[in-house]
Amino acid sequence: MENKKQLEQITNCALCGNMCKHSCPIYLATGNETVTPQKIARLVLYKKKAFLEDEKGFFDVMFQCAMCGACKMNCLYDNFDLRDYIQGGRSEAFKKGILPDETRKQVETFVNFGNPDGERQLIQKGAGNLGYFVSCSTYNDQQLLKAVEKILTKSGEQVQRFGGADICCGAPLYYAGDMEGFKKAAGKMKREIEQRKLQKVITNCPACIKMMTEIYDEIGIHLDVEFIHTVEFLNALLKEGKIKVNKANATATFHDPCILANDIGITTAPRDIIKMLGFDIKESVYSGKEAHCCGGIPGGKIADSKLVASVNAMRTSELKETAADVYIAACPTCKVALSNIAIKDVAEVVAEQIIDG
Ligand code: SF4
Ligand code: SF4
Repeated sequence: MENKKQLEQITNCALCGNMCKHSCPIYLATGNETVTPQKIARLVLYKKKAFLEDEKGFFDVMFQCAMCGACKMNCLYDNFDLRDYIQGGRSEAFKKGILPDETRKQVETFVNFGNPDGERQLIQKGAGNLGYFVSCSTYNDQQLLKAVEKILTKSGEQVQRFGGADICCGAPLYYAGDMEGFKKAAGKMKREIEQRKLQKVITNCPACIKMMTEIYDEIGIHLDVEFIHTVEFLNALLKEGKIKVNKANATATFHDPCILANDIGITTAPRDIIKMLGFDIKESVYSGKEAHCCGGIPGGKIADSKLVASVNAMRTSELKETAADVYIAACPTCKVALSNIAIKDVAEVVAEQIIDG
């Protein structure tokens, strides 16, 4: 039976004045009225009431959302997250086999290799109950991996690095709506972490943290481990004097990854690091919890590659307006999406300025 509260929530959103529309990166990048939060809610409601004739069109819209959470941050209502309903639409699309091509390809690769990218080496190095998880997006970025390795070595901490092969949090399956596959991936990740006896795990990818905490809990899989983002680890290392850095004499703009700011609530730590590195911060007009999502990569949260390119371009030009010397992010996927401005991960900037010896 339809949950009465859910029906009331989605009805409220469908009847709302679309207050959050001007924070939605899809609307801002395309001007497409159909993909605004209130219009999406209206489609979800129509679908529930069996008013829609074009089911394929409905599912297409579900895969056009960046799942960034800007509508949640700017919502009139407390505790309402339209993404829960969009995720429900994706799950139904998956069950019916109506998936966008890019998304379908990712799922097929995942089924064959246990990760979204294909054949990979296992990374297993170091010891101890502090872990560093190499997310799929980090695995693909050798420069970032090298930078993190340099910092971990300098930190003097015992860190067990793991990742690659078929170790993945399952986020690609979640965003494809494959909830059964996601649950299996989550169970596997739980075993990977338990067999390594980890108590705390650092990772660069905000989506991994969201999956392994909030979303795993929602599907009844609890990992008895603390997850921290690399920026929290770096911030502590610098503040405790465990690593020392040369000071830059330049300006920098930080791009807030949507999940890091909106779901995990971290906006201060990366700025503290950037200041400790000696940069003068030039904020983008839309920054912190008001930052617009970068759009990610095709087949990620947004399926359509042309739409992804439009959102990438919008965020790139917003950042460029600051005319900073350096652009910095804290998510390997943002780094790919914003590569036109040669954006670096904050860990790379720390590694570049770390004082040897
Ligand atoms: S998400 Fe919130 S603010 Fe946005 S249209 Fe729905 S109810 Fe209104
Ligand atoms: S999650 Fe982001 S992209 Fe999706 S409707 Fe909300 S604001 Fe728009």
